[in-house]
Amino acid sequence: MALKIDLHVHTCYSSDGVTTLREVVAYAERRGLDGVAITDHDTVEGALKLRVKKGLILLPGIEVTALEGHVLALNVTKPIPSGLTLSRTIQKINEVDGVAVMAHPFALLKTIRSAGVHPDFDAIEVINASTFPFSVSTHLSRKLAIRLNLPQVAGSDAHYGPEIGSAYTLIDADPEADEVAYAIKKGAATPFGRAIPWELRLKRVMLNLKKRFK
Ligand SMILES: [Zn+2]
Ligand SMILES: [Zn+2]
Repeated sequence: MALKIDLHVHTCYSSDGVTTLREVVAYAERRGLDGVAITDHDTVEGALKLRVKKGLILLPGIEVTALEGHVLALNVTKPIPSGLTLSRTIQKINEVDGVAVMAHPFALLKTIRSAGVHPDFDAIEVINASTFPFSVSTHLSRKLAIRLNLPQVAGSDAHYGPEIGSAYTLIDADPEADEVAYAIKKGAATPFGRAIPWELRLKRVMLNLKKRFK
């Protein structure tokens, strides 16, 4: 069974996210997704609050700020500490049986440093709908995944509801979090997606500023 899952979604529990948990569910359903991974920056609080919703696979996760860049830890319920080296971060994710994904390896402007290359990753996020420049980073990320022989995944990196589902991964698995995690690791995943349009990105920036200066 091919499941359509956006593997990179932020909620208002991320310092820079504005989407409420209710909106995550509403947009996931509206976009025809089978599930989403909640990957807030350095917290699992939102992911733990949104664990069950009938008809939707909710993969708990976290976007970890490692020394070298961002790492997505999927199917984890405990926070992975930030500020560690990449190998230590991946080790911590392995210890809790999570999936360690190299996030947006070639995005400019998105992170202070692009994620480093490490052979122990379980997968690479080759399509991230929020990256800039989109086509170039997608192309380079795909090449890197092929070179490292790692599974390829995609996610929207949505920080605002309407961005959810702009990118998603088709995963051959039974509709259950552990099965989805296992399928990603063995490469039963195909990335799809497009760049988030500029008007949506601008709206996100405005809402984000509003949140910060509230
Ligand atoms: Zn990131
Ligand atoms: Zn992100």
